[in-house]
Amino acid sequence: MDTAYCKLDGVTYYIASFASLPQREIQEKRRHLLCPDPKCGWQAYFKRAASSGQGACFGARPHAPNCSLAAPISESGPGSNETKDILRNPMDHIVIDTAFGAHGSLHIDGEDEAPGAPRGGRFTGDGPRGPAKMNRRLRPLLKSLISSEQFRRSSSVIELPQYLSLPVNQFFVHFDDAGPEHENRFHGFWGLVFDTGMSYSGAFWLNTGEYDELSVMIPAHLYDDFKKRFGFQLDYELEGMHVLVLGRLRAAQSGKQYIELEDLSMCALCDD
Ligand SMILES: [Zn+2]
Repeated sequence: MDTAYCKLDGVTYYIASFASLPQREIQEKRRHLLCPDPKCGWQAYFKRAASSGQGACFGARPHAPNCSLAAPISESGPGSNETKDILRNPMDHIVIDTAFGAHGSLHIDGEDEAPGAPRGGRFTGDGPRGPAKMNRRLRPLLKSLISSEQFRRSSSVIELPQYLSLPVNQFFVHFDDAGPEHENRFHGFWGLVFDTGMSYSGAFWLNTGEYDELSVMIPAHLYDDFKKRFGFQLDYELEGMHVLVLGRLRAAQSGKQYIELEDLSMCALCDD
């Protein structure tokens, strides 16, 4: 979208004007942007021009259901069929597949699938075998979180084997909703990356939250692999992307909350 409303100064900015503001002003205001449609007003983000040639833009994911500026989520690219599948199928039980680099799906225990049943996590009906399970990788799940309020509110069970099972609406926690009650608990935390930072120790920080009170921390020893896996070269390319990270919410002595990425397979990124 070409315009966004800034809560700090009450100005509706045109993208070209916003992009030419002084850097410090951008850093401050980008956290307080909203979709300018009065029926919407949901959190928006700013992305500066990319080295690929794509110009600066504003965006919001999600928009309110009746927002006139909401565009359908891209249907191209890897994972799109899975996303559609997730939204289309009635699901009782989703098993998260974190297998590194896997394109199919991991076959979990097999007890719930009859011989010859379709592999790859397709919904297989609600026959006598009990709840249908489907396997899903993180990126399509992140896309569903972004694009579907129905999914965010769903009470279908989602399971990360050996960690936890919870209804979708409790398993996933948007960064803006993370509070003291989530500290030291394991969840799928997700939301927008506003900016990034590198600490002296070499840890890479994905900063989120309106007041920079919550970050995802990529430890120094994972940084190179993280860049390779997600295919970016410059740190700022992550600004305006959505991230989903499975992990425990911690509180630093300063009071700042963070989630340390423990394994690359516990993280997904999604660009619009
Ligand atoms: Zn909107």
